[in-house]
Amino acid sequence: MSALPQAEPTSRFWSPQICSLVPYVPGEQPRIEGLVKLNTNENPYPPSPRVIEAIARAASEGLQLYPDPSSSALRGAIATACGTTLDHVFAGNGSDEVLALAFHAFFRHGMPLLMPDISYSFYRVYCDLYGIEPECVPLDAQMRVDVSDYARASGQVSGVVIANPNAPTGIALPLADIERLLLAHPGRVVLVDEAYVDFGAESALALVDRHPNLLVVQTLSKSRSLAGLRVGFAIGQRHLVEALERVKDSFNSYPLDRVAQAGAQAAFEDVAHFERTRRAVIDSRDTLAAALARLGFEVLPSAANFLFVRHRAHDAAMLAARLRAQAILVRHFRIPRIEQYLRITVGTPAQCDRLVAVMAQLLA
Ligand SMILES: *Cc1c(COP(=O)(O)O)cnc(C)c1O
Repeated sequence: MSALPQAEPTSRFWSPQICSLVPYVPGEQPRIEGLVKLNTNENPYPPSPRVIEAIARAASEGLQLYPDPSSSALRGAIATACGTTLDHVFAGNGSDEVLALAFHAFFRHGMPLLMPDISYSFYRVYCDLYGIEPECVPLDAQMRVDVSDYARASGQVSGVVIANPNAPTGIALPLADIERLLLAHPGRVVLVDEAYVDFGAESALALVDRHPNLLVVQTLSKSRSLAGLRVGFAIGQRHLVEALERVKDSFNSYPLDRVAQAGAQAAFEDVAHFERTRRAVIDSRDTLAAALARLGFEVLPSAANFLFVRHRAHDAAMLAARLRAQAILVRHFRIPRIEQYLRITVGTPAQCDRLVAVMAQLLA
């Protein structure tokens, strides 16, 4: 068979902007027998059995019909779990989609959008897509967000986006710091991406009623073990949720299918499963952090389901490659300032033990 022609880097059929886009690159999802997969911050535990039952029921009834375009039952369940009302909740196809709609809805004011220099790299991709200028504020020497670095003259920014806990550092900001950001930018949206909040940070949900400029975004992909279902949500005051609904209904009326709505709703209803699995991840994280410290790693204080670590004597890219050769995947970023770090997802106790045993051999 002859080889297919190489894809061209650009095409005359593309809209001009497409030629310069630099898309986000997700962590790899290889199919390798016995793989210890600690590279994409998935939950090592399966979702609640009630989720599987709800999905089976939804799949056996009604797939010939469109789903509820506004995901009302799911939003009701989220509102109950988060102590708010349905009209303060927006649901989307993964929090990545919710973030994209929010960037479109709130950050296109022709001024820079403030974000940490080291954070979730999708934020810069959305800036590129929507023509928003990112202003990357450096983390301090301890890899922390210092909110006093985010002060600007009033009206000189399009908004602020922050992940709390931050990714890939895992470090959490106290609520008092989030509140300082909200008060420093009363005329702009401060978006707090809480993808990992359930593993140990304080949620800004408690501030929503007092701050008309706060949008909190969460996902079911991490703490609810549903990365494969694609459900995320935002909570904010009604005027912010309404803007997200306007953008959604100008793009895709049905971002969440029947199966996803039913499964996600069931995930919020099984509180015991959620508490048990998140506690197990937190316990494994603390055990793993101590074990890696004993092996000579500097471990940043994590409030998430991953650790960001740096060895005092060994190159991170080399360690990642050697782990991979032994079927253990961790994430390494070839990004200035963090190229000597590894981001390691917290797995089951058995996966963490395997990682530590192989790492100890590599370092010996
Ligand atoms: C994983 C992650 C997301 C994306 O979550 P999905 O709901 O799976 O799209 C968003 N923000 C951060 C910081 C993440 O780590």
